[in-house]
Parts: sequence; structure tokens; C-alpha cells
Amino acid sequence: MQHQLDTHQAEDFVELHSMNQFHAWDQRRRRKQIAQVCCLTGLLYLIFSVIPKPWASAEAQNAMLTLYTLLIAPGLLIISFLAFKSRYVKWIEPLLAIHILLAAICHVYINAKLEVFEPLLAEGYLMVIWTFIVSGLTPRFAVLSALLSLITFSIYACLALADSPLFYIHLFWLGCSFSFGLAGALIYDHSRRAEFATQLAYRELAVTDPLTQCFNRNELERRLKIEIPRCEREDQSFSVLMLDLDNFKAVNDTFGHEAGDLALAQTANVIRQSIRKSDTFIRWGGEEFLILTLNQAPEQALAMAEKLRLLIQTCQYDNGLQLTVSIGVTIYYLGDQQTDLINRADSGLYQAKSEGRNCCRFVGT
Ligand code: GH3
Ligand code: MG
Ligand code: MG
Repeated sequence: MQHQLDTHQAEDFVELHSMNQFHAWDQRRRRKQIAQVCCLTGLLYLIFSVIPKPWASAEAQNAMLTLYTLLIAPGLLIISFLAFKSRYVKWIEPLLAIHILLAAICHVYINAKLEVFEPLLAEGYLMVIWTFIVSGLTPRFAVLSALLSLITFSIYACLALADSPLFYIHLFWLGCSFSFGLAGALIYDHSRRAEFATQLAYRELAVTDPLTQCFNRNELERRLKIEIPRCEREDQSFSVLMLDLDNFKAVNDTFGHEAGDLALAQTANVIRQSIRKSDTFIRWGGEEFLILTLNQAPEQALAMAEKLRLLIQTCQYDNGLQLTVSIGVTIYYLGDQQTDLINRADSGLYQAKSEGRNCCRFVGT
């Protein structure tokens, strides 16, 4: 068992974690969107392939029927199916981007077989806008995919439609569909980010204690529900430190509740500055705090508790107060439930209190 993640590893983990948060959140939504939109579009292609097309030659009708029913629609339906399965997540966007390019090539191929091509031009514009705004692709993939389609359509227009009176207006509409699509995709992406930030802010609010800015018990529950199964799977451990300020009632009685509040906020600040970003710092109750830390060995957990105890003892409180803290310490053992951890940390704290306060006690199994 690895006994301790070093500080850099732990901090890198947290940084990476918050950086990836938006992408993970966004990816889940986009995957769902891709699944639904590809399914709908695949079905629409099937409907399109059976709509009478008296404006097209028999050969072109044949090409449309074959390509739409045997290639484009099934491809979209397969991508839709894969997008419902999280294990294919990496493949969805590249597959869809390639499929869009394939559809653009088919579109050009069918156009080449038409004498009256105007009815099918709109499909090209729709395809570009669909790619940007409807498909669910991230802007990176959408730009790449729409650009390749646009190039395909433009090359074809230059080669085959240059003599048509519609040539310039066709290029103009293609440019419009690309720029509207791009603007739409960027606006959409921006609003997704804003939505994520709002959700994050509400979530922070729901799990933050207003006086000390520590997490509250809701967050502890959530973290333990993640940490315990992870440690079980990976044969790892973590530590729990339960801190309780000594004789805090006397602070309130002597200096007033407001001074007590100030001292609690300052205590939280001092502790926060000394722990790692990867540690979870909770206000457990009135003048009680709880810390979950990646330390995996009892000695390391105790050393950390001792460091915090000294920190409080030597802290220069604003209103000239002198405080001490008692700390109960335990680590996670395989098979532990939330309550086992809390009970052991609590009994460590009880020992520390009964042995004179201002000390740390470890309780193992
Ligand atoms: P012990 O050393 O045994 O922990 O003694 P204690 O006085 O700290 O413990 P006790 O549980 O008897 O009292 C805790 C006190 O903490 C009671 C309450 O006045 C104070 N307290 C709890 N929450 C707050 C708060 O949010 N603000 C202030 N100012 N005081 C609080
Ligand atoms: Mg208490
Ligand atoms: Mg106390």
C-alpha cells in the first residue's frame, strides 16, 4: 500500500480535477445531445429517401436512395447508439465529424447527377448549420467538420456550378451558413460555460458554511461516498481529524458571541492556509471541525494533527484571545462505514478531552 501521496501529486490531482470538471460535465450533456440528434437526423434521412423526387433523374433518385438508406442514415443511427454507451465516449466526436464529411461528399456526388440541382442546395446549408448548432459537437470538432464540408461544397461549386447564375449567391449562402453556425456554436458554448459556473456557484453555496467558509456536513457525506469506495477498490486509505476548540463556551461567556464568531472564522482561516488543497475541511458543528486528508498512515495523520494543534496554540487571534484545540484522529480501514470513521475520530477526541485537552489522540481499529 502506498503510504502517502506527495504534496505535488495531490495538488496536481486537484488542479486537474477542477480543470476537467467542466469538460466532464459538458461531455455528458453533449453525448446525450449527439445520441438524440443523430437518431432524429437518421430517421429524417430515411423519410427524405422515400419522398417522391420528380425533379431528379432516375439515376440521381437511385443514388439518393442507396446512399441515404444504406450509408448516411445507418451511420447516424449507429453513432446515436454508440453515444448512449459511455464506454465509446472517445470515439463519438471523431466518428460524427468523419460521418458529416462523408455526408458532404455524398451530397456533392448526388448533386453532380442532378440536372436540376437547386432543390438539393439547401441540404448543404442545413448541414453546415446542423454541424455547428444542432449536432452536439464541441466547437473544436464542429469547426473542423463544418470547414471540411464547406471546402467540399465550395470546390464542387467552383468546378461544376461556376457557369450557373446561382454560383455567387450559392457561395454567399454557404459563407452565411458557416458564419451563422460558428456564431451560434460560440454563443451556445459560452452559455454552457455560464450555466456550469452558475451550477457550481449554487453547489458551493449549498455546501459552504457561511461563517467559516468551510464545507458543511452535506459535502462530507458526498466526499465520503466517493472516498470510501475508491479506497476499497484501490486498497488505499485516508485519515480523519476531528478538532474541537477547548473551553470555547468560556470565550463566548467572557468576550461575547461576536468575538467567538470572529475567533471561529480566524481558526478556520489559519487551518485552511496550512492544509493541502486536496484535503477536505468541514465545519462539523459549532466549534468543531473535521478534516479528511490523503495521509494514509497513522503516524502521518497524527503528525498533521499535532502541527494543527500547535498552530492554534500559537495563533495570534485578533482580539487577543488564546485558544487551544483537542483532536481525535483515525484512518480508514478496509470495510469501514462512514459511521465507523466518525465514531473512532470522536472517541479519539473524547480521549484528548479527558486527558486534559490541547492534545491529539489516535484511535485505530
Ligand atoms: P470543550 O473543551 O469540552 O469542548 O468545551 P467547550 O466549551 O468548547 O464545549 P461546549 O460543547 O460545552 O460548548 C461549545 C460552545 O461553542 C457553545 C457555544 O456557545 C459555542 N459555539 C458553538 N457554535 C458557535 C458559533 O457559531 N459561534 C459562537 N460564537 N459560538 C459558538
Ligand atoms: Mg464541541
Ligand atoms: Mg469545545
